[in-house]
Amino acid sequence: MPGRGISGVPEKALRSFAPSHPHGTQDDKRALVCVKLVALFAVLLSTVGVYGRTPAQEQPKPSAPAARTQKVTAERYEIDIAFEPDRGFLRAKAAVTLRANAPTGAVEFELNPRLEIKEVSDEKERKLEFERSRRIGSTRLLVRLAEAVAAEQSFVVTFAYEGVPLLGGLDYITKDGILLRDEARWYPAVDLSAFTGFSVNVNLAEPKWWWVVASTGQATSFNRTFANSVWHSFQASGLVSSRSIAATRSEQPCGPLVDGRPVKTSPPLQYEVRTCLSSPLAAKGGELAPLVGRLLQANSILLGTSRWGSLVLVQGFPGQRGAIGYSAPGFLVVSEDVVKWHGSPGYAPEFLPHEIAHQWFPIEVTLTRVEDGWLAESLASYLAWRYLQETSPAEARAMVARAMRDGLEHEPLRPIGLGLRLFAEEDWDVTYATLYQRGMLVFRTLETVIGRSRVDAALREYYKRYAGRSASIADFRKVCEEISERDLGWFFDYYLEGTRIPEIELRRLSGAAPGEMLGEIIVRNVPPEFHARVEMQIHTTEGVVDHSVATRGEVTPFSASVRGQVTGITLDPDARILRWTEAARRNRQQRDLLANLGDLEAEKEFTKALETTQQALDADPENLAANHQQIRFQRGRLYYRLGQSARAMQEFARVLELTSLDQPATDLYRAWARVYRARIALRGGNRVAARAEAKAGLAINAPALDTEISWMETPAKKTSAAEELRALAK
Ligand SMILES: [Zn+2]
Repeated sequence: MPGRGISGVPEKALRSFAPSHPHGTQDDKRALVCVKLVALFAVLLSTVGVYGRTPAQEQPKPSAPAARTQKVTAERYEIDIAFEPDRGFLRAKAAVTLRANAPTGAVEFELNPRLEIKEVSDEKERKLEFERSRRIGSTRLLVRLAEAVAAEQSFVVTFAYEGVPLLGGLDYITKDGILLRDEARWYPAVDLSAFTGFSVNVNLAEPKWWWVVASTGQATSFNRTFANSVWHSFQASGLVSSRSIAATRSEQPCGPLVDGRPVKTSPPLQYEVRTCLSSPLAAKGGELAPLVGRLLQANSILLGTSRWGSLVLVQGFPGQRGAIGYSAPGFLVVSEDVVKWHGSPGYAPEFLPHEIAHQWFPIEVTLTRVEDGWLAESLASYLAWRYLQETSPAEARAMVARAMRDGLEHEPLRPIGLGLRLFAEEDWDVTYATLYQRGMLVFRTLETVIGRSRVDAALREYYKRYAGRSASIADFRKVCEEISERDLGWFFDYYLEGTRIPEIELRRLSGAAPGEMLGEIIVRNVPPEFHARVEMQIHTTEGVVDHSVATRGEVTPFSASVRGQVTGITLDPDARILRWTEAARRNRQQRDLLANLGDLEAEKEFTKALETTQQALDADPENLAANHQQIRFQRGRLYYRLGQSARAMQEFARVLELTSLDQPATDLYRAWARVYRARIALRGGNRVAARAEAKAGLAINAPALDTEISWMETPAKKTSAAEELRALAK
């Protein structure tokens, strides 16, 4: 939000100033998808291509009517590609082996619109006619075959093309690195996520410091000299669901990392992990590679072994800030901040676990439809949570707390069953809250319906059954139903297609015998079939008793054995069920209250703005929604702008004590509180105090300090807390 002050930006938007999202930066919200899912979306939802027709060109041959029902599939791509990275240029030759289920005379491809096609030919080296869509920016391309090809007969179409491709989002060709995902359409594609054979030879003008990876499941590039030039050659050992390539410049070799060898995970499963990092950060590979190895190992144990025995972690996205990732078969590209800030407390802890989970879903089990996105993004987040639960329970709890609050923030809630359509239809915050947060909570809720061991068994069976193929939510539901021997239609309809959220309440009943507690669990806003195991902690004068109740229908009475006097009950202490909580309710209320804060500040209605923030504080006196730090910070700024230094100092002092639900937000508010406190000290002529505040701010030394923000009082200026603090420390 350049030019807009932080004040009045709702909590969630504000939080995204901090580089805490698994996939992104503030600047390019749409480009934050880590896998090739957006491409899939574009393929399936794009409208029918409009082809230019020139008199000299014939219409498709008589066999073309069959094109309406025919399906052409690509079986293999063999590509030679040479880059001139300095000018973003590529020159390529791609041979595509195809097969159609019906006789066909023309094939539809997609290719980046800025790539100029030099020639299209067939196996007999006959030149083929082709027609590109006249719609601006369209990737559509129709190739007419020299003669109709019979059904089920494989044939090859070869393309020679070159140019500077039109790249947006996450793709780039620069002197510092290259990433071409499937959605860049850098090769003539029939179906961007199909499983095909794939081999690619990559040539770079200046080969010395380039390290190249391709989605072939290979760990390294193999340089070979051919005709006086160096080629990096890759060949997939099996069928791959992606044809992506990445390259990075580094004077450091990729891996080997520990004792001169690539990192291997401990027996019984062996994964070889290499890292290709920029020279200044190469040493970070020593921490990152073992972690990636452990993640591969953990997922293998839970889900089944991945087809890839190796993984290359490549540093990419040069010049882009925040945690950004792209997963492809056998490699993962991450932004500089992911490497640089690895190990910084609370910095995107779920990022790598989420990305590594993509090696299984959706790279090995692809999605049948864009609406099945729950099985990619939500599942990756669920698997990330599972890993954190084992390795850093506090981070896992914080991840759930954020999801329980923010997953219900947006009014109206969107169905999770929109899947990847959310990326196109909603902004990043809504997509993140729906698919990454609420969707993850639905997987956790499934544990309370069929039990965790059955969820695990279902995931294993699902992976086993569909690895190397595409699958849908209906396929996953079927597996869950087989394993649990229950009809789960209500669960999938309610949580994925609908947007209603359960309200669960616990009531104590009188008339209990000594040593007993009587109560009932009331579940509202659910279908009649709803059932789940609800946990509770019963606090008594003698200690805490854990109890759980399987609910049936709206009201489920229960009794529990207790010793001593019952002093209180905590319902669902681990937030296992996606439901309305007091924190989520209050968060929404505060968000509504603060919605026009930015306007009030812009109109310099500081006193009114302060009243609004007071109402927001009063809406949640216990700070259950954990928004007080943000609200106090806004109050501090308002008092500062009013010239009320003493009050501003008080508010900023509270900001330093309070925390938000994630570490980057906490750091951001604290760092900027130090900036304002230093400015107030300077206002009072106290340079020594100002310097002390600035130094205390710089001591926070967290990624949030580098987040650039433009404040409302100086809208034209984008600045980071680190910059301000360094200036004030002088
Ligand atoms: Zn993802």
